[in-house]
Amino acid sequence: MLLTPEILPALIEAAANIIEQNAEEITALDQAIGDGDHVINLQRGLVALQKQSPELTALTWDAALQKIGMTLMNTMGGASGSLFGTLFVAMSKTAKGKELDLKTFAEVFTAGVEAVKKRGKAEAGEKTMLDVLIPVEKALQKNIADSKPLPEILDDLNEIAIQGMESTRDMIATKGRASFMAERTQGHIDAGAKTSQLMITAIITLLASTYVV
Ligand code: ADP
Ligand code: MG
Repeated sequence: MLLTPEILPALIEAAANIIEQNAEEITALDQAIGDGDHVINLQRGLVALQKQSPELTALTWDAALQKIGMTLMNTMGGASGSLFGTLFVAMSKTAKGKELDLKTFAEVFTAGVEAVKKRGKAEAGEKTMLDVLIPVEKALQKNIADSKPLPEILDDLNEIAIQGMESTRDMIATKGRASFMAERTQGHIDAGAKTSQLMITAIITLLASTYVV
Protein backbone atom coordinates (compact mmCIF):
# COMPACT_ATOMS: atom_id res chain seq x y z
CA MET A 1 0.00 0.00 0.00
CA LEU A 2 1.52 3.30 -1.12
CA LEU A 3 -0.43 6.32 0.09
CA THR A 4 -0.34 9.70 -1.65
CA PRO A 5 -1.69 13.05 -0.35
CA GLU A 6 -4.63 12.50 -2.74
CA ILE A 7 -6.27 10.70 0.16
CA LEU A 8 -6.07 13.69 2.53
CA PRO A 9 -9.43 15.39 1.74
CA ALA A 10 -11.28 12.12 2.43
CA LEU A 11 -9.35 11.54 5.67
CA ILE A 12 -9.98 15.10 6.88
CA GLU A 13 -13.67 14.76 6.02
CA ALA A 14 -13.91 11.47 7.91
CA ALA A 15 -12.20 12.98 10.97
CA ALA A 16 -14.47 16.05 10.89
CA ASN A 17 -17.58 13.87 10.61
CA ILE A 18 -16.78 11.60 13.51
CA ILE A 19 -15.96 14.59 15.74
CA GLU A 20 -19.24 16.27 14.73
CA GLN A 21 -21.19 13.08 15.56
CA ASN A 22 -19.62 12.91 19.03
CA ALA A 23 -19.32 16.64 19.79
CA GLU A 24 -21.73 16.74 22.74
CA GLU A 25 -20.13 13.77 24.45
CA ILE A 26 -16.62 15.25 24.01
CA THR A 27 -17.72 18.61 25.40
CA ALA A 28 -19.16 16.86 28.44
CA LEU A 29 -15.83 15.07 29.00
CA ASP A 30 -13.82 18.32 28.86
CA GLN A 31 -16.40 20.08 31.06
CA ALA A 32 -16.04 17.42 33.75
CA ILE A 33 -12.27 17.82 34.23
CA GLY A 34 -11.28 20.78 32.00
CA ASP A 35 -12.86 23.94 30.63
CA GLY A 36 -15.17 22.40 28.01
CA ASP A 37 -13.59 23.96 24.92
CA HIS A 38 -11.73 20.98 23.46
CA VAL A 39 -14.24 20.09 20.75
CA ILE A 40 -14.65 23.74 19.71
CA ASN A 41 -10.87 24.09 19.43
CA LEU A 42 -10.60 20.92 17.38
CA GLN A 43 -13.53 21.74 15.12
CA ARG A 44 -12.01 25.15 14.37
CA GLY A 45 -8.88 23.34 13.19
CA LEU A 46 -10.81 20.76 11.19
CA VAL A 47 -12.87 23.41 9.38
CA ALA A 48 -9.63 25.19 8.42
CA LEU A 49 -8.21 21.89 7.15
CA GLN A 50 -11.38 21.18 5.14
CA LYS A 51 -11.05 24.60 3.48
CA GLN A 52 -7.45 23.96 2.43
CA SER A 53 -7.82 20.26 1.64
CA PRO A 54 -8.00 20.70 -2.19
CA GLU A 55 -4.54 22.36 -2.06
CA LEU A 56 -3.06 19.50 -0.05
CA THR A 57 -3.53 16.86 -2.76
CA ALA A 58 -0.91 18.35 -5.10
CA LEU A 59 1.80 18.59 -2.42
CA THR A 60 4.50 16.15 -1.37
CA TRP A 61 3.83 14.36 1.94
CA ASP A 62 6.26 16.54 3.87
CA ALA A 63 4.78 19.78 2.52
CA ALA A 64 1.21 18.58 3.15
CA LEU A 65 1.97 17.46 6.72
CA GLN A 66 3.78 20.74 7.42
CA LYS A 67 0.80 22.74 6.16
CA ILE A 68 -1.63 20.69 8.26
CA GLY A 69 0.51 21.16 11.38
CA MET A 70 0.84 24.91 10.90
CA THR A 71 -2.89 25.29 10.24
CA LEU A 72 -3.75 23.39 13.42
CA MET A 73 -1.28 25.47 15.46
CA ASN A 74 -2.60 28.73 14.03
CA THR A 75 -6.32 28.02 14.30
CA MET A 76 -7.03 25.63 17.18
CA GLY A 77 -5.73 27.26 20.34
CA GLY A 78 -5.73 25.40 23.65
CA ALA A 79 -3.08 22.93 24.74
CA SER A 80 -4.33 20.52 22.10
CA GLY A 81 -3.70 22.99 19.25
CA SER A 82 0.02 23.16 19.84
CA LEU A 83 0.21 19.41 20.52
CA PHE A 84 -1.71 18.26 17.43
CA GLY A 85 0.22 20.89 15.43
CA THR A 86 3.52 19.53 16.77
CA LEU A 87 2.47 15.99 15.82
CA PHE A 88 2.09 16.92 12.15
CA VAL A 89 5.08 19.28 11.91
CA ALA A 90 7.35 16.58 13.36
CA MET A 91 5.83 13.99 11.00
CA SER A 92 6.60 16.36 8.12
CA LYS A 93 10.29 16.59 9.06
CA THR A 94 10.67 12.81 9.04
CA ALA A 95 8.64 12.45 5.83
CA LYS A 96 10.96 14.75 3.89
CA GLY A 97 11.86 13.27 0.51
CA LYS A 98 9.98 10.04 1.20
CA GLU A 99 7.08 8.15 -0.29
CA LEU A 100 4.79 6.65 2.32
CA ASP A 101 4.30 2.92 2.48
CA LEU A 102 3.15 1.45 5.78
CA LYS A 103 6.65 0.99 7.17
CA THR A 104 7.72 4.55 6.36
CA PHE A 105 4.41 5.86 7.71
CA ALA A 106 5.16 4.06 10.98
CA GLU A 107 8.57 5.78 11.23
CA VAL A 108 6.96 9.13 10.47
CA PHE A 109 4.17 8.60 13.02
CA THR A 110 6.65 7.50 15.70
CA ALA A 111 8.63 10.72 15.18
CA GLY A 112 5.39 12.71 15.52
CA VAL A 113 4.40 11.02 18.78
CA GLU A 114 7.91 11.48 20.22
CA ALA A 115 7.65 15.21 19.47
CA VAL A 116 4.27 15.44 21.23
CA LYS A 117 5.79 13.77 24.31
CA LYS A 118 8.61 16.33 24.30
CA ARG A 119 6.37 19.33 23.67
CA GLY A 120 3.89 18.35 26.41
CA LYS A 121 6.60 17.02 28.75
CA ALA A 122 4.34 14.02 29.15
CA GLU A 123 4.49 10.24 29.04
CA ALA A 124 1.94 7.44 28.93
CA GLY A 125 -0.25 7.15 32.04
CA GLU A 126 -0.81 10.88 32.58
CA LYS A 127 -4.41 10.91 31.25
CA THR A 128 -3.86 12.70 27.94
CA MET A 129 -4.07 12.12 24.19
CA LEU A 130 -0.72 10.31 24.58
CA ASP A 131 -2.52 7.37 26.20
CA VAL A 132 -3.99 6.72 22.76
CA LEU A 133 -1.11 7.91 20.55
CA ILE A 134 1.70 5.99 22.32
CA PRO A 135 0.04 2.52 22.36
CA VAL A 136 -1.12 2.93 18.75
CA GLU A 137 2.39 3.92 17.64
CA LYS A 138 3.92 0.95 19.52
CA ALA A 139 1.34 -1.50 18.15
CA LEU A 140 1.90 -0.28 14.60
CA GLN A 141 5.66 -0.86 14.91
CA LYS A 142 5.14 -4.30 16.44
CA ASN A 143 2.59 -5.38 13.81
CA ILE A 144 4.97 -4.35 11.04
CA ALA A 145 7.89 -6.18 12.71
CA ASP A 146 5.64 -9.27 12.91
CA SER A 147 4.70 -8.88 9.19
CA LYS A 148 0.98 -8.97 9.98
CA PRO A 149 -1.40 -8.53 7.03
CA LEU A 150 -2.93 -5.07 6.62
CA PRO A 151 -6.53 -5.97 7.60
CA GLU A 152 -5.29 -7.44 10.89
CA ILE A 153 -3.07 -4.42 11.54
CA LEU A 154 -5.97 -2.03 11.01
CA ASP A 155 -8.29 -4.03 13.30
CA ASP A 156 -5.63 -4.26 15.99
CA LEU A 157 -4.83 -0.53 15.89
CA ASN A 158 -8.50 0.36 16.22
CA GLU A 159 -8.85 -1.95 19.20
CA ILE A 160 -5.69 -0.53 20.82
CA ALA A 161 -6.92 3.06 20.30
CA ILE A 162 -10.23 2.25 22.02
CA GLN A 163 -8.47 0.50 24.91
CA GLY A 164 -6.10 3.47 25.29
CA MET A 165 -8.99 5.91 25.39
CA GLU A 166 -10.83 3.75 27.96
CA SER A 167 -7.67 3.41 30.06
CA THR A 168 -7.68 7.15 30.80
CA ARG A 169 -10.88 6.76 32.86
CA ASP A 170 -9.09 5.41 35.93
CA MET A 171 -6.00 7.59 35.62
CA ILE A 172 -5.24 10.69 37.68
CA ALA A 173 -4.35 13.65 35.45
CA THR A 174 -0.84 14.95 36.04
CA LYS A 175 -0.51 17.19 32.94
CA GLY A 176 -2.56 19.99 31.42
CA ARG A 177 -5.57 21.79 32.84
CA ALA A 178 -7.11 18.57 34.23
CA SER A 179 -4.12 18.14 36.58
CA PHE A 180 -5.52 20.96 38.76
CA MET A 181 -8.30 18.54 39.75
CA ALA A 182 -5.87 15.71 40.56
CA GLU A 183 -7.76 12.74 42.15
CA ARG A 184 -11.12 14.19 41.16
CA THR A 185 -10.29 13.44 37.53
CA GLN A 186 -10.63 9.70 38.25
CA GLY A 187 -13.76 8.21 36.69
CA HIS A 188 -13.69 10.53 33.66
CA ILE A 189 -12.27 9.78 30.21
CA ASP A 190 -9.81 12.41 28.92
CA ALA A 191 -11.26 14.52 26.10
CA GLY A 192 -8.06 14.59 24.02
CA ALA A 193 -7.73 10.81 24.32
CA LYS A 194 -11.33 10.49 23.13
CA THR A 195 -10.89 12.76 20.08
CA SER A 196 -7.58 11.08 19.19
CA GLN A 197 -9.26 7.66 19.32
CA LEU A 198 -12.26 8.81 17.29
CA MET A 199 -10.10 10.32 14.53
CA ILE A 200 -7.87 7.23 14.43
CA THR A 201 -10.97 5.03 14.20
CA ALA A 202 -12.36 7.18 11.35
CA ILE A 203 -9.06 7.04 9.44
CA ILE A 204 -8.73 3.28 9.94
CA THR A 205 -12.32 2.68 8.81
CA LEU A 206 -11.69 4.67 5.64
CA LEU A 207 -8.36 2.96 4.92
CA ALA A 208 -9.94 -0.45 5.52
CA SER A 209 -12.75 0.25 3.07
CA THR A 210 -10.34 1.71 0.49
CA TYR A 211 -7.43 -0.73 0.65
CA VAL A 212 -8.86 -3.94 2.06
CA VAL A 213 -11.42 -5.84 0.03
P1 ADP B 1 -6.94 23.31 27.12
O1 ADP B 1 -6.59 22.25 28.10
O2 ADP B 1 -5.90 24.36 26.97
O3 ADP B 1 -8.34 23.84 27.35
P2 ADP B 1 -7.99 21.59 25.03
O4 ADP B 1 -9.22 21.50 25.85
O5 ADP B 1 -8.19 21.91 23.60
O6 ADP B 1 -6.95 22.60 25.66
O7 ADP B 1 -7.21 20.20 25.08
C1 ADP B 1 -7.12 19.46 26.26
C2 ADP B 1 -6.48 18.12 25.93
O8 ADP B 1 -5.10 18.28 25.62
C3 ADP B 1 -6.50 17.17 27.11
O9 ADP B 1 -7.71 16.43 27.11
C4 ADP B 1 -5.27 16.29 26.88
O10 ADP B 1 -5.59 15.13 26.13
C5 ADP B 1 -4.37 17.16 26.05
N1 ADP B 1 -3.22 17.64 26.83
C6 ADP B 1 -3.18 18.67 27.70
N2 ADP B 1 -1.94 18.83 28.20
C7 ADP B 1 -1.16 17.86 27.63
C8 ADP B 1 0.24 17.49 27.71
N3 ADP B 1 1.11 18.17 28.50
N4 ADP B 1 0.66 16.46 26.95
C9 ADP B 1 -0.18 15.79 26.15
N5 ADP B 1 -1.50 16.09 26.03
C10 ADP B 1 -1.98 17.11 26.75
MG1 MG C 1 -10.12 22.61 27.31
